Amino acid sequence: MRAWLDQHFGMRVRYAEPLSRHTSFRVGGPADAWVEVSSAAEILGLQRAAADSGAPLSVLGIGTNVLVSDHGVRGVVVKLGGALGRLEWQAEGERVLVRAGAAAPFKKLVTDAARRGLAGLEFAEGIPGSIGGGLLMNAGAFGGEISNVVTGIVGVAPDTGERHLSRAELRFGYRRFDLPSNLIVTRVDFALVPGDPTAIQASMADAKRRRDAKQPLGWPNAGSIFKNPPGEYAGRLIEAAGLKGHRVGDAMVSEQHANFIVNVGSATAADVKRLMEEVADTVWRARAVRLEPEIKLIGEWEAE
Ligand SMILES: Cc1cc2nc3c(=O)[nH]c(=O)nc-3n(C[C@H](O)[C@H](O)[C@H](O)COP(=O)(O)OP(=O)(O)OC[C@H]3O[C@@H](n4cnc5c(N)ncnc54)[C@H](O)[C@@H]3O)c2cc1C
Repeated sequence: MRAWLDQHFGMRVRYAEPLSRHTSFRVGGPADAWVEVSSAAEILGLQRAAADSGAPLSVLGIGTNVLVSDHGVRGVVVKLGGALGRLEWQAEGERVLVRAGAAAPFKKLVTDAARRGLAGLEFAEGIPGSIGGGLLMNAGAFGGEISNVVTGIVGVAPDTGERHLSRAELRFGYRRFDLPSNLIVTRVDFALVPGDPTAIQASMADAKRRRDAKQPLGWPNAGSIFKNPPGEYAGRLIEAAGLKGHRVGDAMVSEQHANFIVNVGSATAADVKRLMEEVADTVWRARAVRLEPEIKLIGEWEAE
């Protein structure tokens, strides 16, 4: 696999790349190989070469919703970039359709849409990450979520090649998207509608104010750690259990928002995972509610 990677990706492949450099938590061990791809054809070639050689293949967006193990990730980690980060806008009747490359920052889509006076994405003001990651997490806030404005996706899988999936074929849940097996998403299509520019700006300013007031933006973190259980807020349960400020090593339950874990120095992934387990156990004992992680745990955990 290494010779194949060197031949096809040259300077765009790095070996033993520390994933702490690519995650908002600033923790995570090395990827055996880290490759930046810029087209669907490159992804397909990589998927097929990896399948032939038996190397595992995984994909990372901007790394704002993941906890990568200290032991890192075996095989090849793919990072989308280049032309896969473009946004294309096209008017169609009353609506504007956007073809958004999966590598594009979600923030860019949200701010460009507002500048064009298009409504539908105001809820997402301040959500970090990529379009691909946003789709995978069905990212949402303040009552809105990405699934409300998605009309279809394009992706690549080693057995089928490029695939277009319509909205009717996509399955979303709360902070969940059922990704068809082996698919790497390359494009997400959105439909937005013209709105009142002043109302759009006001709604985004309100979202920003609420976010700034409650989120601990000073320390590295990965956003909300647990999903909200039905009819409850994970943060409220964690705070009520007296866990604000509780620490394992340099991983700490935020004093500002109890559903955030912050890295206050040199936390390891094992610290964060232990703290997550302690929080979930404490809430279970106090309230008999099981907290389910929202963040994705990636890499080799057996040895932790
Ligand atoms: C300060 C802060 C605030 C946040 N606030 C919110 C919020 O309000 N609402 C919310 O929903 N989230 C929030 N998040 C979490 C996170 O930003 C979102 O879930 C975001 O959409 C993740 O995007 P990403 O590119 O960083 O994905 P990553 O973390 O890189 O990846 C997430 C998952 O998506 C998969 N993936 C990524 N790209 C692709 C692709 N092209 N094809 C297939 N799989 C892919 C990865 O394999 C991984 O499993 C917050 C995070 C932070 C740090």
